Amino acid sequence: MPTCLVTGGAGFLGSHLCDELLARGNRVLCIDNFETGSLENIEHIRTDRFVYRQVDIIEPYYVDEPIDFVYHFASPASPIDYLRLPLHTLKVGSYGTHHTLGLAKKHRARFITASTSEVYGDPQVHPQPETYWGHVNPIGPRGVYDEAKRYAEALTMAYHRQQGVDTAIVRIFNTFGARMRPYDGRAIPTFLRQALQDRPITVFGDGSQTRSFCYVDDLIRGIIALSQSGYHDPVNIGNPDEFTLLELAETVIEVTGSKSEIVYEALPTDDPQVRRPDITLATELLGWKPEVELREGLRRTLQESGEEALIGPSR
Ligand code: NAD
Repeated sequence: MPTCLVTGGAGFLGSHLCDELLARGNRVLCIDNFETGSLENIEHIRTDRFVYRQVDIIEPYYVDEPIDFVYHFASPASPIDYLRLPLHTLKVGSYGTHHTLGLAKKHRARFITASTSEVYGDPQVHPQPETYWGHVNPIGPRGVYDEAKRYAEALTMAYHRQQGVDTAIVRIFNTFGARMRPYDGRAIPTFLRQALQDRPITVFGDGSQTRSFCYVDDLIRGIIALSQSGYHDPVNIGNPDEFTLLELAETVIEVTGSKSEIVYEALPTDDPQVRRPDITLATELLGWKPEVELREGLRRTLQESGEEALIGPSR
């Protein structure tokens, strides 16, 4: 039975990954400091093949038992979190990735790091293929996240080239599903929370900026396919269906049957104008493509989460 270590395993994506790895018969060791994740995300897991440990990966950490796969998902991920924790975010991407890669090296495990479409910054190429090097502002407020992830990619490739570690890099595009936090500031949980309460839906700028939204089950399937390939260079995993933020707000209103109106707020600094993955590589290499379109994904999110969890505690 393979053993998988998942850093950030109590977070949104990490907990879904733990679920799927367990469903496929693996043993899972979940490492998390619960900074943005929570025990609630993993409390439903009832198997002795699952163990969690409260660890801050910024500090060196060790695991005594054999490990076959390391999924490195720990990092603040939503703008609200990384703008609140700028130094922590840089340290997770640097020290945290060093420590986790060191562990993969010691255990001769395959290492898969969760990178992001943010490595493309405000892209000048559209859609974004893996060969595009990006257009990132290193000194803007978002730079702490974008550059931490770019550094983590550089480090991953260096461990692979110099130390022979079996590594993979998944560039994740916006993903949504149950267990997103209602106040994490990302568009889908924010719009769902507002729509379910018939409150105004807050769209940044004029809402013409685009994003592509991948349902979490599709993403996790792609990540596991990548972990089973022998591929080392970055691979985009995301849904290439592209929507303006205004279209997203309208779709959320439609799916929830909400009476919300749409209001407009100032655009955040360095907010990318467009975002859409080129998934040719993932399709050719892994035979992967997303299956769940936006409306269906929103319906599943509503169903799996329940309204109470999507609204969250009152503020
Ligand atoms: P999340 O905030 O829900 O999960 C991150 C987890 O990492 C949390 O459980 C948090 O407590 C943990 N963590 C943070 N710092 C830590 C530390 N120092 N030590 C141990 N644990 C720590 O975010 P998410 O959306 O699940 O993102 C998971 C990963 O996927 C992140 O690396 C993120 O950058 C990447 N990603 C996510 C998306 C997305 O759309 N959700 C898009 C691109 C990339």
